[in-house]
Amino acid sequence: MAYKDLKITRLELLMVKPRFMFLKMHTNQDIVGYGEPILEGQTHAVAGAVRAMENYLLGKDPRQIEHHWQALYKGSFYRGGPILTSALSGIEQALWDILGKSLGVPVYQLLGGAVRDRIRIYAHAHGADKEQLCKRARELVDMGFNLLKTGFEAPVAFVENQQFLRNCVERFAALREEVGPEVDLALDFHGRFSPTMSKRLIKELEPLYPYFVEEPCLPGNTAALVELKNSTTVPLATGERIFTKWGFRDLIEQRAVDILQPDLCHAGGIMEVKKISAMAEASDLAVAPHNPLGPISLAACLQLDACTLNAVAQEQVTLGDGYLVKPFEMQNSYIELPTEPGLGIELDEEKVRALEYDGNWETPRVIDQRDGSVAEW
Ligand SMILES: [Mg+2]
Repeated sequence: MAYKDLKITRLELLMVKPRFMFLKMHTNQDIVGYGEPILEGQTHAVAGAVRAMENYLLGKDPRQIEHHWQALYKGSFYRGGPILTSALSGIEQALWDILGKSLGVPVYQLLGGAVRDRIRIYAHAHGADKEQLCKRARELVDMGFNLLKTGFEAPVAFVENQQFLRNCVERFAALREEVGPEVDLALDFHGRFSPTMSKRLIKELEPLYPYFVEEPCLPGNTAALVELKNSTTVPLATGERIFTKWGFRDLIEQRAVDILQPDLCHAGGIMEVKKISAMAEASDLAVAPHNPLGPISLAACLQLDACTLNAVAQEQVTLGDGYLVKPFEMQNSYIELPTEPGLGIELDEEKVRALEYDGNWETPRVIDQRDGSVAEW
């Protein structure tokens, strides 16, 4: 067997701007594995969790991925939650990177092989006002994107008035008018709306054909999601703040949304999201992996998308410019399947080192200036 006695020797963490953390897993041979263990705004907490897991991993063969996952997830008695599963997710990605490299194949070849030739990706379109939003959307469409995601600004109160809703609808209508019917427009409500306000707004937006509505209300309230889903024909999506197959089970069993959005850096890693996708497939639901993170996260997502039929769209915020020796290339909203071994990427060490920072990125806190209360971001 190639790479006999392969062992993990060191876990190196790099905190990288704007809010990423990269893991470089070293071995006793000429292979390193990359992962992205991060929870936005909690870099140091996740780094601490990775350090605690390092004690178990040192000296182990990195290719026993499932076994190490179970040991790290279950072995410390207390389990789950965003910090621990984010640490575990990044570690798991690095283990897959090493396994793929040790065998000379992309990770998706080890998870069933490719089910498609290329992967559809989407970009975020934001703007302080309608004009800026439309300008940005036009730029993205001119670059080749045919699926965009946008949202509405915080704060949103538990009940909002007619003018507020009218502004939201006008904003989305202007965007639809700008890009026409051939560009798909998804909406992220970001968990800002109460279930009732969400129901009202989705009804108003329905004629403008949103591709999907993400986090129409906060996660964790399956009954509210089911009620919303029964009130509209717009596909609903959620999942970025839900972790592991156990976390997704209830949503899937109740068919509370149409599209699940597990994050490969939070939900437990590549294999865990593969399992969640299989659970979703059995209920005729789709997945669209959440990824507002860095290039290693995107690389892990693409490996999953490559071998998962119900993975319908891939979020991304960086194609790797400034991070990777060879950034990903997008053409007509698609990325071709990666062909290099493992996760298929090589970090540009010099550029990444230049982006190192102290890890202190703070999640914005939104205060509703109308009454001084805290609102959802
Ligand atoms: Mg979101």
